[in-house]
Formats: sequence, C-alpha cells, structure tokens
Amino acid sequence: MIHADAYLRLRDELSGRGITLVAVSKTHPPDVVRELYELGHRVFGENRVQELLEKKAVLPDDIHWHLIGHLQTNKVKQAVGAVSMIEAVDSMKLLRMISNEAEKSRSQVDILLQLKIAREETKYGFDPRTIYQELSDADFRALGGIRYRGVMGMASFVDDMDQVRGEFRLLKHHFDTLREKLFHDHKDFDQISMGMSGDFRVAIEEGSTMVRIGSLIFGERLPHQ
Ligand SMILES: *Cc1c(COP(=O)(O)O)cnc(C)c1O
Repeated sequence: MIHADAYLRLRDELSGRGITLVAVSKTHPPDVVRELYELGHRVFGENRVQELLEKKAVLPDDIHWHLIGHLQTNKVKQAVGAVSMIEAVDSMKLLRMISNEAEKSRSQVDILLQLKIAREETKYGFDPRTIYQELSDADFRALGGIRYRGVMGMASFVDDMDQVRGEFRLLKHHFDTLREKLFHDHKDFDQISMGMSGDFRVAIEEGSTMVRIGSLIFGERLPHQ
C-alpha cells in the first residue's frame, strides 16, 4: 500500500516549482511500484542494479529508472542499458567505463556527479577538494557517452537541521562553481539532486531541483531478503 494522499500532495508541491520527484522504490515489490505508476508517476529510483533490472522486467517500458546507489564496475554494462540516469557517479574510472559502454550503442547516459558533502564519514562520492583537479583534464569532459547533468549529494543523518542545511548549501555552491569553471559549455548541466523524506524541504530551500523520496510515499522500507 502506498501513501497516495501524501504522494499527491508532494507531487503538487513539487511540480509547481519544477522539481523532479524520484520515487525511491528500493525494497518494495513491483506491484507497489505499479500502484504509483497508475497514479501517473514515471520516475523511480533504485539503489541496486539487480533489483532495478528485476522490476524493470515486469513493469511498463515508459518508466524512467534512476540508479541512486553506488555502481560497481562489474555492473556498468547492465546499468547503462537499463537506466535513464545514473545519479551516483563517484570516480573517473566509472565515468570512463560508463562512457565506453554507452558508445558501443552510440548512446549517451545522463549522469550526476556524487559529491561528499556530509560532515560524517561517508564511503562514496567525489571529494569536493579534489574533484576540480580531477575533472580539469578536458578528456573527461569530452567523454562521448556521458551527458553531464549536474550533482547529487546526501546530507548527514542527523537531527540538526542547521547542519543539514549547511551541507546542502555546500552542494549548491559546488554545483555553481563546477558549472562556471568546468561545465559552462554543457547546457544540460542543470540538476542538483538533494533531499530525502526527512530533509527535502530544507533541500528545496537550498536550491534542489530533484528530490529522492522513499518512505514518505511507500512507508517504511522492508528489509532486503
Ligand atoms: C533510500 C534512499 C533515498 C530515500 O530515502 P527516504 O528517507 O526513504 O526518502 C534517497 N536517496 C538515496 C541515495 C537512498 O539510498
């Protein structure tokens, strides 16, 4: 059972501001995804390639799937053929592999650069202190299979909303700076994916263009089998 009322309110609130709602369906079975689909929703987020593929296989073709979790290099091939956007690209190696894979089918994949913005220790994401240097190699910005769409980040899991706000503000700052310094020729570099069920309003106040919402729509997550 989805929380249809909460979803419809959220949809109105976000579409009025031109913000993309990614419904995070991880751990929830396909029939639950279909319920939301039947309310007209088309953009879904999954954090594991395998789970995404299993749902994609049994659900309508016009769903846009976003991969929002860490992508392992051995899953790049499967991911590239299946998703509309890879939100959590966190290394140059991955950029190169995704591009190579996309070029095999003469296509381009929309990607977001995941940045580490949380003060707490996190595993994945580019270090904002080194990403400028790493990306200044023009080869990376010219990768034929990559369409750079913007940045993605996760705030710390803390109750202190001032800290969370500061982290989102930092992501917006890096988005602006990256666009100005490195991606001014990339017209599609226009997305800031930040904000989850517990902090999306703060994220929107700080400039989010894309929120990733799971539990508010689908309820508590089921444990992974
Ligand atoms: C699970 C997940 C979300 C959604 O979290 P909720 O708190 O359920 O809204 C958003 N982003 C990422 C990367 C996630 O893994």
